Amino acid sequence: MAVLAFVDTQEGKITKSSYEVVSYAAKVAEKEGGEAVAITYGDVDNGDLEALGKYGAKKVLINKSVTNMLPTKLAKLTAAAAEQEGADIIVFAQDFTGKSVAPILSAKLKAGLVSGAVDYPDTTDGFVVKKNVFSGKAFAMYKVNTEKKVISILPNSVGKEEVDGTAQVEEFSADLGDSRITVTNVEKANTDGGIPLTEADLVVSAGRGLKGPENWGMIEELANKLGAATACSRPVADVGWRPHHEHVGQTGIAIRPNLYIAVGISGAIQHLAGVNGSKVIVVINTDPEAPFFKAADYGIVGDAFEVVPKLNKAIEAF
Ligand code: FAD
Repeated sequence: MAVLAFVDTQEGKITKSSYEVVSYAAKVAEKEGGEAVAITYGDVDNGDLEALGKYGAKKVLINKSVTNMLPTKLAKLTAAAAEQEGADIIVFAQDFTGKSVAPILSAKLKAGLVSGAVDYPDTTDGFVVKKNVFSGKAFAMYKVNTEKKVISILPNSVGKEEVDGTAQVEEFSADLGDSRITVTNVEKANTDGGIPLTEADLVVSAGRGLKGPENWGMIEELANKLGAATACSRPVADVGWRPHHEHVGQTGIAIRPNLYIAVGISGAIQHLAGVNGSKVIVVINTDPEAPFFKAADYGIVGDAFEVVPKLNKAIEAF
């Protein structure tokens, strides 16, 4: 029995969360007495594909003719790979691509879907997967009763484990049929060449407490010094102080970095929904009653305009 890992790529590069997906699939396969196989697409270097063996993939199937991220095509490709490999369990990252492809695939295969899993399945009584519910305020255990199972894992939930190994790479073609939609052009969002938020280990985020877009210089400086991505609360993106791709929360992106620094953000439940899986949360806020302090590992009650420049100076001197 194979466990299939969906490996996403961007401009020929494997995304960071995909390594965790492969590692997760390998662990599940080991438990089930099978092997982890990866399915991917695009113009990816062979060495990068073989290196997926370091995370437990025995084999990597690649379709080089699929170059865009049209979810229906990726779902068809993954279904065909699952059929060829006899895979009953298919694993995705719960990221932009996984969020759209996993549900299409699960409908196609009539498979039970657990989206946003945060742990390995427990198979002592059926196939039970833990996931976040109520915007991250609780966990629920989902028992999957179908023969085929689709799981998407929240990035940075279980981490990735390195093993010895090189994956065998095979070209994979499948009849992907016609699509009702054709991608005619892909325009990159203006990310200023910074670290993509979903790939970042460290994130510096700011909210309405910063008063205006002209004050983001110190936030960008802090992020640059730490090698972090920048993020923001929703109202800040809504009024155009920051670009929408930085908006985190219930209606924005959900992230789980190792460190999340929140500056001048109150910590409303809708914001926390997107960030409360972060490993360490640092909050800087003038209001000691700000709800964010309840979710914080470290808190500084203070004015961002005093604290952040001091932090920048301290890091410089470090
Ligand atoms: P505010 O609530 O205005 O907080 C500003 C904070 O800055 C305050 O705590 C204040 O004490 C502090 N402050 C002020 N001056 C300083 C200073 N000089 N130094 C330090 N601190 C200072 N929000 C999201 O972020 N993401 C979402 O995805 C999201 N989805 C939503 C979905 C729905 C359906 C709804 C109804 C709302 C959603 N919201 C979302 C909005 C959310 O409810 C909050 O309104 C929002 O998060 C508040 O943003 P803020 O913390 O930046 O601003």
